[in-house]
Amino acid sequence: MENLNPFKLVQLQFDKAADAIGLPERQRMFLKTPSRNVSVDFPVQMDDGSVRMFTGYRVQHNNTRGPYKGGIRFAPQVDLDEVKALASLMTWKTALVDVPFGGAKGGVACDPRAMSAGELERLTRRFTYEIGDVIGPETDIPAPDMGTNAMVMAWMLDTYSMGQRRDCFAVVTGKPLSVGGSLGRAEATGRGVTQCVVDTLASRGEDPSKMTAVVQGLGNVGGTTMRLLAQKGVRIIGASDMSAAVYDPAGIDVAALTAFLAAPGRLLKDLPGGKFLERKEDLLTMPCDVLVPAAMENAITGANAGAVRARYVVEGANAPTTLDADAILEKNGIVVVPDILANAGGVIVSYYEWAQNVQREQWCEDKVNAKLAEKLSVALGSVLDLARERGVSLRMAAFMIAIGRVAEASSLRGYFP
Ligand code: NAD
Repeated sequence: MENLNPFKLVQLQFDKAADAIGLPERQRMFLKTPSRNVSVDFPVQMDDGSVRMFTGYRVQHNNTRGPYKGGIRFAPQVDLDEVKALASLMTWKTALVDVPFGGAKGGVACDPRAMSAGELERLTRRFTYEIGDVIGPETDIPAPDMGTNAMVMAWMLDTYSMGQRRDCFAVVTGKPLSVGGSLGRAEATGRGVTQCVVDTLASRGEDPSKMTAVVQGLGNVGGTTMRLLAQKGVRIIGASDMSAAVYDPAGIDVAALTAFLAAPGRLLKDLPGGKFLERKEDLLTMPCDVLVPAAMENAITGANAGAVRARYVVEGANAPTTLDADAILEKNGIVVVPDILANAGGVIVSYYEWAQNVQREQWCEDKVNAKLAEKLSVALGSVLDLARERGVSLRMAAFMIAIGRVAEASSLRGYFP
């Protein structure tokens, strides 16, 4: 049975890339190991008067190149190993796209869909208070991830600022516009995924308007990607969320689906007239040119990778492909654009949001989008070049570049004291 421990998988990926760049043994353990693992248990008063205990985490992996940076996830399966894995991926992501941040991640094991707005607000505020000593505008800057959004970031900003007795807009990114958010941030991850699809196709002489795509996950990342890919002329033929999957080779009406999902709490299973698959998991193995897993980790495993019929897999989610699956996809000639590149648009614009907060500026959306496109294009170009030069996968090339950068910074800074 394949080992699906997310942290072990990231460590194994690290080892492979570290071997490929000949990283000295003395640097490896430091780069692999998170610097700080914070775990907190805290009470939340529920609407019915009961008090429930919740467990939350903040893992700070590496800050050699700048303050820790990474999202906060609210989901039932959140545990320490998942958060450690995601924190490590953030270190490699920020290094790969060259923003001056390190890597961190946080989360609370909870089911946000089963909680009222008031319960979520109390949970968010108490969690923020619990981790308040380790986050800060110059030390560790959270952002939204699965199950969290701009509203949650506003509560975090407010709670942290109250404790500091001054406004600290730069303590979180992904905020609403009226409290220091950036134009373009909400769409940034999906915009980056879309650019990776289009530019990777172009690098192989393929025309997006002749391509079909399937998107797993219809939240912030998947929903935006689906919409923007359709704008580029890509025919969306399949999509899924936690409740159901639709597949239609003739093409899905993306505008209608987007409008349907815009109402809060809506699930795909209730889409009128949808052409549903019997098992939503089968969506991943339906014929298409581009598959975008944009829901959660371990979607493509050793068990289903051999059946994937896409020619390109562009990872909107973090760690959606296990190591075993990655090897199978590579053997089958499927091009995989790895998570640390494909979904880096979010952290790139988070960096621009933070920079605007620190400088007390507000950039126009065109400027944000142009700077995002430029940064991502440099990173994608360097990954494509190294992969070609060394005859390795795009994932391997991306990790080699990222690890090389953090290793160089840490050897220059040395090991305190
Ligand atoms: P989200 O909560 O907005 O959406 C998640 C979506 O996945 C929902 O539509 C949900 O119904 C769906 N889903 C859950 N389980 C599923 C299943 N078994 N099958 C199909 N669909 C399922 O989350 P998000 O912010 O879009 O994040 C999605 C992924 O992208 C996560 O891996 C996250 O870490 C990663 N990511 C997010 C950002 C960001 O800026 N939000 C940035 C980088 C990476």
